[in-house]
Amino acid sequence: MTHTLGHWVSGSDWDGASERTAPVYNPARGAVTKHVRLASAADVDAAVAATAAAWPVWRDASIAKRTSVLFAFRELLNARKQELAEILTAEHGKVLSDALGEIARGLEVVDFACGVGQLLKGTYSENVSTDVDVYTLRQPVGVVGVISPFNFPAMVPLWFLPIALAAGNAVVLKPSEKDPSASIWLARLFAEAGLPEGVLTVVNGDKEAVDALLVHPDVRSISFVGSTPIAQYIYATAAGAGKRVQALGGAKNHMLVLPDADLDLAADAAVNAGFGSAGERCMAVSVILAVDAVADALVAKITERMSTLRTGDGTRGCDMGPLITREHRDKVAGYLDQAASDGATVVVDGRGIDVDGEADGFWLGPSLIDRVPLDSAVYRDEIFGPVLSIVRVSGYEEAVDIINASPYGNGTAIFTNDGGAARRFQREVQVGMIGVNVPIPVPVAYHSFGGWKASLFGDAKAYGPYGVSFFTQEKAITSRWLDPSHGGLNLGFPQNA
Ligand code: NAD
Repeated sequence: MTHTLGHWVSGSDWDGASERTAPVYNPARGAVTKHVRLASAADVDAAVAATAAAWPVWRDASIAKRTSVLFAFRELLNARKQELAEILTAEHGKVLSDALGEIARGLEVVDFACGVGQLLKGTYSENVSTDVDVYTLRQPVGVVGVISPFNFPAMVPLWFLPIALAAGNAVVLKPSEKDPSASIWLARLFAEAGLPEGVLTVVNGDKEAVDALLVHPDVRSISFVGSTPIAQYIYATAAGAGKRVQALGGAKNHMLVLPDADLDLAADAAVNAGFGSAGERCMAVSVILAVDAVADALVAKITERMSTLRTGDGTRGCDMGPLITREHRDKVAGYLDQAASDGATVVVDGRGIDVDGEADGFWLGPSLIDRVPLDSAVYRDEIFGPVLSIVRVSGYEEAVDIINASPYGNGTAIFTNDGGAARRFQREVQVGMIGVNVPIPVPVAYHSFGGWKASLFGDAKAYGPYGVSFFTQEKAITSRWLDPSHGGLNLGFPQNA
């Protein structure tokens, strides 16, 4: 009999009324370790009502009070990050060092949100007309919804929660049903840090819970991270219901290697960014654009490095863990068959490799496919697994044309020692986040994260300045302290005469 994880409402565990559940696996063992409750629309209603009831206390809490909760949360998370990392490895499969890396990037956003006093400062214009002043202030939005994907069960919630909460909102978080425990753990930690009961709610569930949130009249905004088709659906549905929406979608990230690049550094970067977290990162490099002159040498260096990677249980010091589910592993492995029939060359086939883990785990070793045709599914699809493609190009222009023809625009990188080429690249590519000799250019917390085109729907990136703007609404106040000289009737439009 396995444990069934419920929801977190009003500062306590809560089961809700729905009887539906989903299995949660340890992907390194291929075994069900617990079940998670899947909320019904009625459960979502009750959870949102509890959150809305709790909100005014937090909305009216002083900035000093909110800051103190964020600081306390930061200290607790730092002290207990190993515990969270173990939860991530047990449910997602990523190796422990990678899980700690994810938490470190989430902590950056907590650091940023600790400066909320600075971030929420308004503006002031004195004497815009005689004795008239105008000033602006930023207020919280209300109850905000956050819907997160399986691949960063801690970091993606932490892209949103710290800023949303610091700004005085109440949050309903709907994590991925594939690895839900991290969200409940984070909610408990916020409670320990002094967040008032009910201000942070976690509702576990699937499409039914998401759909209920998207149209709920008391949910004022939706922050979504996940695949492109769902992001587009979320954007259309929640915007149609009159909400603010930021919906971050999928990706297909290219790394261009010019002939003058340091090929050893480029090969290291390609392997790190292609196979870290088993390729289940929205900023993973999935396509190397290798200029013909150096392509053979680069493929050789990448292949050599791949042979040193250890795939296995994330608790055993391996480099790469399993994929999230058996179905996903089979789907990703299917691309290796497809590649061969599309005329590509499978240089390294990760099926059937020796793993340091249990036989039933959802394993697929690092795989490399060369000469991938641009019209093949391997090139077009977001594979989201440890499969790196090489596309050979004649030079810079062809590479940029390929990148710009992609429907996605999340991340990209150029490897070169030519500053002029790098500068031209950053100017010409239609992509939201660019690395120059940096393979996974996830911006630090005081900038913002977001792609272009089908990688982001809506106009607000995540965290950083965009995060503050998304989770607050501005008021502009025009004021005059009356004295008798201001009397008299005047039906004209107010102007600075
Ligand atoms: P997903 O789209 O399947 O699920 C994301 C969330 O949406 C989950 O909470 C899930 O329960 C919910 N959901 C799934 N199907 C739904 C439906 N039909 N209706 C309503 N809600 C639904 O994504 P995933 O597989 O969990 O995550 C991987 C994807 O996320 C990849 O495409 C990856 O690129 C993307 N991702 C993007 C970013 C980014 O910042 N752009 C970051 C991380 C992950």
